[in-house]
Amino acid sequence: MTFQLTEEQRMIQMTVREFARKEIEPIAGKWDRESLFPEETISKMAEMGLLGMMVPSEYGGAGLDTVSYSLAMQEIAYACASTSVIMGVNNLVCEPLLKFGTEAQKQKYLVPLAQGKFIGSFALTEPGAGSDAANQKTSALLKDNFYILNGTKMFITSGSHAKVFITTAVTDKAARHHGISAFIVEKGMPGFSIGKIEDKMGLRASDTTELIFENCRVPSENLLGKEGEGFKIMMAALDGGRIGIASQSVGIAQACLDAATRYAKKREAFGQPIAEFQGIRWMIADMATEIEAARLLTLQAALLKDRGLPFTKEASMAKLFASEMVNRVAYKALQIHGGYGYLKDFPVERYYRDARVTTIYEGTSEIQRNVIAKLVLSTED
Ligand SMILES: Cc1cc2nc3c(=O)[nH]c(=O)nc-3n(C[C@H](O)[C@H](O)[C@H](O)COP(=O)(O)OP(=O)(O)OC[C@H]3O[C@@H](n4cnc5c(N)ncnc54)[C@H](O)[C@@H]3O)c2cc1C
Repeated sequence: MTFQLTEEQRMIQMTVREFARKEIEPIAGKWDRESLFPEETISKMAEMGLLGMMVPSEYGGAGLDTVSYSLAMQEIAYACASTSVIMGVNNLVCEPLLKFGTEAQKQKYLVPLAQGKFIGSFALTEPGAGSDAANQKTSALLKDNFYILNGTKMFITSGSHAKVFITTAVTDKAARHHGISAFIVEKGMPGFSIGKIEDKMGLRASDTTELIFENCRVPSENLLGKEGEGFKIMMAALDGGRIGIASQSVGIAQACLDAATRYAKKREAFGQPIAEFQGIRWMIADMATEIEAARLLTLQAALLKDRGLPFTKEASMAKLFASEMVNRVAYKALQIHGGYGYLKDFPVERYYRDARVTTIYEGTSEIQRNVIAKLVLSTED
């Protein structure tokens, strides 16, 4: 195993870094304060191929590997966590379409999603089905070549801006998770509407909404995979998604570290820069070390996925460690800023709020621990 990036991976990292530092970082604070969806920037990112990075070029994507995707996510998240979650979810939606979609579904939905012409949403969570994702109440009944969907989805990223939604509904209640099917729903389908737009602590430039299905008519050709495969399809997508959230966490954490070191070198107390105090230096050392550990776990999971090897455990480990790490790092970065860190004048206040959700979405830390423990305990001696 080599820890060296290829020439192409390094080039992607540098190109996305330059773009994010120039075009995103200076305005991310304004987007956060005003809860502005970064529409124009997302269009530019689409032109750069960042919205369908792992989709082959024949389906409109960039045809890159997961390592490159992780590097790009880290750079975008460094500048703006909200923008990175929009990018992450779009890439997340592409995966099941690529793996399970029919050729017609790929042409109609995957190509524009990968090109960034459509924004995508991944709609699994319901008011009563978060960690217990199989406890779905949304139902789908097949009638005259249409599935009739009824129910509510909750916490859906990009809900009010998306054109295409991958969602789930119960087609056979008795079969529990084997009775859940996946569907491709389009904005504007009869009976489909966007509900409440949530008012969040962080990620304020990314919208999070309810989705409401009231006798929503979805053509039967929009069933993704076979009936009863929906849970499997969504869980498989989340394995890859967790690499995305781990990458996002590493990106926010690096931004915290850079902000904290800059500040520590300038701010003086007791006649010297606070960076001279051992208490501050050790915080910086711990932050840098933890970020590096999380980065390596994340890239390892990405590399396994690229090699076609099992990566569920490693993706969960990366997501668990990186998301808990960024919360510790954001705490320390704010501490190093003293009272100024608590003000909105410094970006560390935004990083601190944005970091918080990473241990919650795409599977809470507790759920990641359940996944990891199950796989560790099932290993033969
Ligand atoms: C900003 C944001 C964006 C989101 N975007 C999306 C999206 O785009 N699409 C989507 O489908 N969902 C999305 N979600 C939903 C997210 O995935 C869920 O919030 C998450 O899975 C947790 O579900 P819950 O909120 O219902 O919490 P619950 O499942 O009710 O959990 C509450 C607490 O109980 C713990 N818990 C539950 N079960 C166990 C267990 N077995 N063992 C130990 N502890 C347990 C949890 O870890 C947690 O601490 C988003 C959420 C947020 C906040």
